[in-house]
Amino acid sequence: MNDDVRADLVLRGGRVHVLDAQDTRAQAIAIGDGRILAVGADTDIEPYIDAGTDVVELEGRAVLPGINDSHLHASWLGGMWPDTVFGAGGPREGALVHDDAQRREAILRAGEVIASLGITSYTEPGIGPGEDDGPTGSFGQPVLDLYRTLDAEGLLRARVNLLLVFGLIDGPARTQAILDGIRDADTTVRDPARFRIAGVKIFGDGIPPMRNAYIHGRYDDGTHGALLLDGGDDDEREAHLRTAIVAAHEAGLQVAVHATGDRTIDVVVDAVRRAVAQHPADLRHYVVHADLLPRDTAPLLAEAGMGATIQAGIAAVTSEWAAAATGGPVPTPDWPARALFDAGVPFTLSSDAPVLPPDWRTEIAAADRLLGPAADARARLHELLRRYTAVPAWQDHAESWKGTLEPGKVADLAVLSDDPDAVGAQGLPTLRIERTYLGGEVVYDAASAPIATGEA
Ligand SMILES: [Zn+2]
Repeated sequence: MNDDVRADLVLRGGRVHVLDAQDTRAQAIAIGDGRILAVGADTDIEPYIDAGTDVVELEGRAVLPGINDSHLHASWLGGMWPDTVFGAGGPREGALVHDDAQRREAILRAGEVIASLGITSYTEPGIGPGEDDGPTGSFGQPVLDLYRTLDAEGLLRARVNLLLVFGLIDGPARTQAILDGIRDADTTVRDPARFRIAGVKIFGDGIPPMRNAYIHGRYDDGTHGALLLDGGDDDEREAHLRTAIVAAHEAGLQVAVHATGDRTIDVVVDAVRRAVAQHPADLRHYVVHADLLPRDTAPLLAEAGMGATIQAGIAAVTSEWAAAATGGPVPTPDWPARALFDAGVPFTLSSDAPVLPPDWRTEIAAADRLLGPAADARARLHELLRRYTAVPAWQDHAESWKGTLEPGKVADLAVLSDDPDAVGAQGLPTLRIERTYLGGEVVYDAASAPIATGEA
């Protein structure tokens, strides 16, 4: 090593999970200037220590890359917390926040909650003018302006990727409003590593239990759902969805489409494939939820360079309702994780908080249960942890500088009370998050935790 390299911070004597593809494990990690200098055995890291180095003795604790929740409505979460949609206090009717002071407080509160869970990156999936008159007050243009302000003030506690929305969250959209919004989108930011406007969120349809997911077959009441974009009939609405996806692609914006019905997913994937064939660009468009993903469509996502983000925790709660509503052949509970997995799609796991709490430990445990017994439990756990770290970094176009604990990457870390390997996927919820580092700086320390997180 270079004798001039001295670490600002060293954590040693623990279980450091690099979460690279090779599943590298180490004892210690050295950090300088907010970046990872080295990982290795304690003896490998020793030369990085000098009188000015802050040395943390892990005493067997584990270190993971900072968690990246790739679908987390932080502004909404902060307005509702500690209630959640499926939790004791929810869902709540009406406005959660009424003015900029409350909106600001909500984003800051969410920042505290997620830092306390070891989360250092998230995607805020849908903020923009489509929601200016929205019922919650949590998703409109003022929230986007506040994100810019809080970023400039250095008050964001995590790296944020934001998707613009030009219709209502979980509601209808005028296609012309989406096209105008895409044309006029201002994605300039101060530092995209901290706050980035990634692209556009489009709501394709609803959800199967409500019989408003757009499906090839029929629900028990004879209906088949409809797309949320305007249009006189199914054909016109499908054409509008395709037009919106192509417009975003041509504008260089990443597109995330809320798509749960098999018919919606087929339209989205076909539109992306055509757009990419016409104008090749690595934009990593993705499907959000993908509940009724057709098996034959899964490989097409991979071919088109697409990803997906899914929520095993929600599937565990809603799959029986969905089964009742679809009335016919229904997906097994491990769907669509199994199909995406088998097709090699770079899919992520996420909370969709505040639908559920933003707790990656319970989400991974739920995904592990849905997938059933694993031939190699340790490999399964590694795979699922990567869906909250390395794979969402790919979704963020940031895999070269975050998502694993490899030298050169940013020092975003979560320190856990014990080794995930020791407790397994089902034991993850018993692990405490003890400290969270963002770019080498402590953004949460359980020893001086300022807020109740609603955890046991
Ligand atoms: Zn969502």
